[in-house]
Amino acid sequence: MESSGQVWLVGAGPGDPGLITVAGLRVLRRADVVVYDRLAPGALLREAPKDALLVDVGKAAGSHTRTQAEINALLIENGLAGRRVVRLKGGDPFVFGRGGEEVQALAEAGVPCTVVPGVTSALAGPAAAGIPATHRGVATNFAVLAAQGAFDDLAKNDRWRRVAALADTAVILMGAAKLEEIASAIVDAGRPAGTPSAVIEQATMPFQRVTRAPLGCIASAARKQGVSAPAVLVVGDVTRFSDLLPTSTVSPLVGCRVVVTRPADRSAELCARLLDEGATPVSLPLLKTVAEVDEKDLGRVLAGLREGRFRWLTFTSATAVREFFVHLHQSRLDARVLGGARVLAVGSATSAALSLFGIIPDLSPDVFTGADAARALVERDPGLAGAVVLFPRAAEADPALSESLRSADVSVSHLILYRTERLEPAGSIVDDLSEAGADAVLLASPSAAGAWSALLGRTSIEPPSATVCVGPTTAKAARRAGLVVNAIAEEHTSDGLVSALVGHFAAAQSDGS
Ligand code: SAH
Repeated sequence: MESSGQVWLVGAGPGDPGLITVAGLRVLRRADVVVYDRLAPGALLREAPKDALLVDVGKAAGSHTRTQAEINALLIENGLAGRRVVRLKGGDPFVFGRGGEEVQALAEAGVPCTVVPGVTSALAGPAAAGIPATHRGVATNFAVLAAQGAFDDLAKNDRWRRVAALADTAVILMGAAKLEEIASAIVDAGRPAGTPSAVIEQATMPFQRVTRAPLGCIASAARKQGVSAPAVLVVGDVTRFSDLLPTSTVSPLVGCRVVVTRPADRSAELCARLLDEGATPVSLPLLKTVAEVDEKDLGRVLAGLREGRFRWLTFTSATAVREFFVHLHQSRLDARVLGGARVLAVGSATSAALSLFGIIPDLSPDVFTGADAARALVERDPGLAGAVVLFPRAAEADPALSESLRSADVSVSHLILYRTERLEPAGSIVDDLSEAGADAVLLASPSAAGAWSALLGRTSIEPPSATVCVGPTTAKAARRAGLVVNAIAEEHTSDGLVSALVGHFAAAQSDGS
């Protein structure tokens, strides 16, 4: 019987989810089963397909939830069953990760196995602290040593001590709990107690902390700081270089739970930005868009386009753009039917959507209320009075734009393409939010503000300490719905929302300190 299964031993990198390799991410995204360690970054698990089986074989220091034999058996069993198995391991799979044993076991069982190398904490840890493993004239070699396992009694392990003492740069892994013992073993082997050293804790992650001291006092310095695993110890003159880089600043969002209310298919970018800041996004889609169009209205608009009746087309959302072009396409038309009509786009996402259909807006004013957009349009086109503007839009679009245009003697032809509906969130998320709470909520539209306020009203979810709105229109709707708005994004995008949240928490922290 031929097995089509395969196991990939993938290095997940040292902690920052951005430090997996492109090749590693590619196989992770196609996995049927992901078998992961405690050291593998949690955010990477989201990259696995939704229906992939995720197995935690948590190998935190000292608490193996499964033996190595059980892990090998799990990999073999899934490989033989024809599955694509990703064995995701912290750092590089072959640096103190028992990757070699897994490869051996798979080879014996006849399961094809591929290794995807990873960025090891032994080098990324020092690098993230600004410490080069080698430097011309300072260090021409480095040694990576484990402070655990077969080499347990360091004082008696002469070879271990000599390597650590002789290498220009010695990098010691798995040693956070026994820095005293390590330092004295190396000093006993002849390395001066004054050798500059550093401990890098949680390297490449939001809580990264660097402690520097001469080898003789590195253990007590680390103890004072409460340093714990995972951490790497670096011994050697290269540790002096850590002064050259600015010390890493920790984002005020680290550890915060942030509710994201956007529709699930449009929240990926926002969630990724939050993860970058060390926050945990809680996805709570409260809205969905439902396409709907009145065929008669559509026919009238298409005829109008063919006759060149519209002087301007006005788009205020990316969804309106997409729906509009879908309808053109279904009628076997394309952008050429717009002819000489000019295009107004409100919001950068709207402009971006237009560019996908080959349209560069003639006007994309830096405004976010309908009235301001109308004003910008009238200013740009003094001959607008008496002309017709086509406004493909959501059923619940802000009426201010068309009202302002009408009062400037411009007629507006509406084409409703979709409406926004509230979604009943899953009970499990509501329970989670009621119990664990959240630190912030991000509201990206007036409808989201209304839906969030309604949810607070009918559940026991506590209002989070920060409510952040994407722009003034959303903030107005939020206040009208009884919410307290703590910050409004200056740039009305996902990035802007996250920056406003960071700014709000940073200000709150400095007020409190
Ligand atoms: N295969 C891994 C190492 C596994 S041994 C790799 O290549 O990185 C586990 C040890 O790695 C930890 O005890 C710690 O010394 C080190 N380590 C892993 N991730 C780390 C991180 N983000 N910061 C500091 N040390 C880390």
